[in-house]
Amino acid sequence: MKIQSVEVVRIQHPATSVPSSTPRRPAWTTSAEVANPMSGFPRFKAHRSLYGPRQWPSFAVKVTAEDGTWGLGTGNGRPAAAVITDAFAHILEGEECLAIEKLWDMMFRVSKPFGTPGIATVAISSVDLALWDLAGKLQQRPVYELIGGPARDRIFTYATGNDVDWYRELGFRAFKLACPYGPADGLDGLERNEEFVARARDVIGDNAELMLDCYMAFDVEYTVRLAERLRPYRLKWIEECLIPEDIEAHRALRSRLPWQSLASGEHMYTRFPYQQMIKYDCLDILQPDIHWVGGLSECVRICHMAAAAGKTVCLHGGALNPYGLHLTWAMPNTPWGEYFVGSAPGVPLQEAAGSGSPVPRDSHIDFQPGEPGFGLRIKEEWLSPFWT
Ligand SMILES: [Mg+2]
Repeated sequence: MKIQSVEVVRIQHPATSVPSSTPRRPAWTTSAEVANPMSGFPRFKAHRSLYGPRQWPSFAVKVTAEDGTWGLGTGNGRPAAAVITDAFAHILEGEECLAIEKLWDMMFRVSKPFGTPGIATVAISSVDLALWDLAGKLQQRPVYELIGGPARDRIFTYATGNDVDWYRELGFRAFKLACPYGPADGLDGLERNEEFVARARDVIGDNAELMLDCYMAFDVEYTVRLAERLRPYRLKWIEECLIPEDIEAHRALRSRLPWQSLASGEHMYTRFPYQQMIKYDCLDILQPDIHWVGGLSECVRICHMAAAAGKTVCLHGGALNPYGLHLTWAMPNTPWGEYFVGSAPGVPLQEAAGSGSPVPRDSHIDFQPGEPGFGLRIKEEWLSPFWT
């Protein structure tokens, strides 16, 4: 079966019900400061929305086979959509639908002259996810079966966000905080970071896991000083402390913090940075994003590389969408799923996520036998051309 067309589309979901519960307070995301790579520029320090792209629309890639069967992969940003339309579509059309390894390799090599990591891997990811969705639909099997699963009957999920009292009430037993302060805040910031983590540990108690996400805001020196102050609070891991391209800094941090588990990867693109991270034993938990790193295919490769090195993989946002869930069902070394709670305290998860989306209960998502492909439940009539 050959690929007939590769199109970038918009998904127009029919009107869904608005959450009816009244929040007891606004979500932490509306006002909280989070340390980030731009924190050193006072104009942009207060909130990431001050410097983010002015537009970065969602899109989907629709890959249609000769018999009319189609698969869908999602992505973000006009630059990645342009890479698909201008550089990938014409080389993929006419190729075998199920030759996903070959098609991935073609997209990877075609992107060499203009640069692979980043925008092009977002483009590769969306096409790859569409190809896997199509492969599942053509074979009438869920994707987790095509890659060897299921490996577990439920996924332990942790809550990401700073409204930990609310997440505890929802039944979560593991919590990841967004670190508010960084090097730009000096000694006072170190002190306030410790108070912030101490408060969270106090709320969740001793019988729960606590992690800290540092969103590329630190350097080696700051990370070591903060980690030493936070040692009494028993963090399961500290995440993404450094700029992801700086492999030497990751090596230095590992040697200066041998006792602290370190996690990173959501802003590493393709398997190659992971090869370095594994080779130099810089990280304990690898966190690729299935929409950015190169799709399901590249995540499977990273899981296999991690398995050979005795490492754990925990996808960035892996419990939030069907793509991440299928990978997490299937791989033996993906025991945890990240669940970012975007809704305000007081609004039940199911109400915020919409009916039909799996949400964690008692910190777990239970296995449900899947529909063909990723089981996206998106109708063809909801799709319209992206470029108009
Ligand atoms: Mg993170």
